[in-house]
Amino acid sequence: MDIILRKVRIKDGEGLKDVAIEKGKIVAIEADIQGTAEREINADGRVLIPGLIESHIHLDKALIADRLPNKSGTLWEAIEVTGKLKPTFTREDIEERARKTLMMLVKKGTTHIRTHSEFDPTQGFTGFETVMKLKNEFKHLIDIQVVAFPQEGIFKCPGTEEMMYQAMEMGADIVGGIPYNDMPAKDHIDLVFEIAKKYNRPIDFHQDFKDDADGITIEYVCEKTIKEGFEGKVSVGHLTSLGALPKERLQPIIELMSKAGVSVMSLPATDLHLGGRKDEYNVRRAVTPVRALRDGGVNMCLASNNIRNAFTPYGNGDLMQIAMLAIPVSHLGGADDLPTVLPMITSNPAKALGLKDYGLEVGKNADLVLLDTKAVSEAIIDIPDRLFVIKNGKIIVETEKNVKVNF
Ligand SMILES: [Zn+2]
Repeated sequence: MDIILRKVRIKDGEGLKDVAIEKGKIVAIEADIQGTAEREINADGRVLIPGLIESHIHLDKALIADRLPNKSGTLWEAIEVTGKLKPTFTREDIEERARKTLMMLVKKGTTHIRTHSEFDPTQGFTGFETVMKLKNEFKHLIDIQVVAFPQEGIFKCPGTEEMMYQAMEMGADIVGGIPYNDMPAKDHIDLVFEIAKKYNRPIDFHQDFKDDADGITIEYVCEKTIKEGFEGKVSVGHLTSLGALPKERLQPIIELMSKAGVSVMSLPATDLHLGGRKDEYNVRRAVTPVRALRDGGVNMCLASNNIRNAFTPYGNGDLMQIAMLAIPVSHLGGADDLPTVLPMITSNPAKALGLKDYGLEVGKNADLVLLDTKAVSEAIIDIPDRLFVIKNGKIIVETEKNVKVNF
């Protein structure tokens, strides 16, 4: 065998297990595996989890917060500021920043990502081509799904419609969309479905990202999903508008979303930064109603969205920090709620991304993270060191700790 992790904690309240890895796969999970491996790791009761999944991130505009400030902190200024910066991006610039961001993610135990890669007639495919190149180059470290993303809208930005088809021809994995930044929003949604049907690809919308619920289109997205037989193949990011709805209006939407099998990526770092900016007191949280959606059977994920730009001027690529942020913000700290959070950055996004070989089970890909904590229930609130990150059965990150305490 290539690797045996000895005495790992997989589930609280169960005995410790050994996990054997061979040729990139998990080949055994047993109480005491006989035999030896090239590399043996004694976990001494530490928690082993499947790799973290960053289900919504923008690699092409990461790490630019120092270039032009977003003074109002609003979404519209973030879009404006980034729009001014985009023509200055060179291929080398995008590549260097995307590369740096990917390394940040890998070091924190992220083994899969879905990245929204944008294009428009002004900047062309510079960023998109760079991300497609890195997808191939990084495949031994991290799996990358690329979303063809029309950030500036499709109809309000002439030339983008043709580029959507070109991006799919160039190998985009997912059709992206942003109905709230286009007119008419329903035509935008219809076109995205048309492209997805043509190329038989899933869909991922930036959806209803506002403090209020005026003009929301999530119901239309769900109806369209059911009508086109796309159940389980549609995801939406943000969806903060639903947080502004009273229960009687929210509940039927959640039921419709559950029926349509629409997954949701809540993006609390961005949403908290940009949301509630007009509130002078009792400032709203303006985030996705995670608990209500989860309780209504919607597949809920947590993701970073942006790292250090006008939309989110902080972040270090650590999904554990995003999950920790979501715990107080979305009221997920209760005894019944806490165990539902780790799945929001592991198994739930695996489902949303359609990953078939993911999970801590025999026969699945050996994409694993050993955490420096001994209880699964504390896997997030500890924000533990990632001691080992294993991708495709190879150790790609190893953390050495040398802490000296003088008391
Ligand atoms: Zn986004």
